[in-house]
Amino acid sequence: MAPDEPDQAVTGVWRAQGGAVGDLSPHFSTRELSDRASGSLPVDVSHLVDHLEQLRAICGDRPLEILSGYRSAATNARVGGATDSQHLYGRAADIPSGYATVDQAERAGFSGIGELDGWATHVDVRPGGPARWSY
Ligand SMILES: [Zn+2]
Repeated sequence: MAPDEPDQAVTGVWRAQGGAVGDLSPHFSTRELSDRASGSLPVDVSHLVDHLEQLRAICGDRPLEILSGYRSAATNARVGGATDSQHLYGRAADIPSGYATVDQAERAGFSGIGELDGWATHVDVRPGGPARWSY
């Protein structure tokens, strides 16, 4: 556990390291949702993964690449993520732009949907009302 990730001590290590392909759900693995720098996944991403599976089905069962899932505070700061980013809580994923339309993401149950400058689509399962934005 990296010393710059005190949040892990609070939440406990839910999954410490990348596991087998499909160990979270039929199509998603711990490795894909883990922090890119440390490989850790200390939060429960099952709610997020449920909706990623729904999105994948809605979009014709095409392979869905996860560009960014859970982020540690250190990783989030390095990539310029929002201070209270949903990625910090394991509630967000960035997927390749063009994979899904906003309508498809809404049908998959995502409450936060953002277009990231044409290269990625951010989807999240934030509590509370819907959020939409583009950069
Ligand atoms: Zn994002």
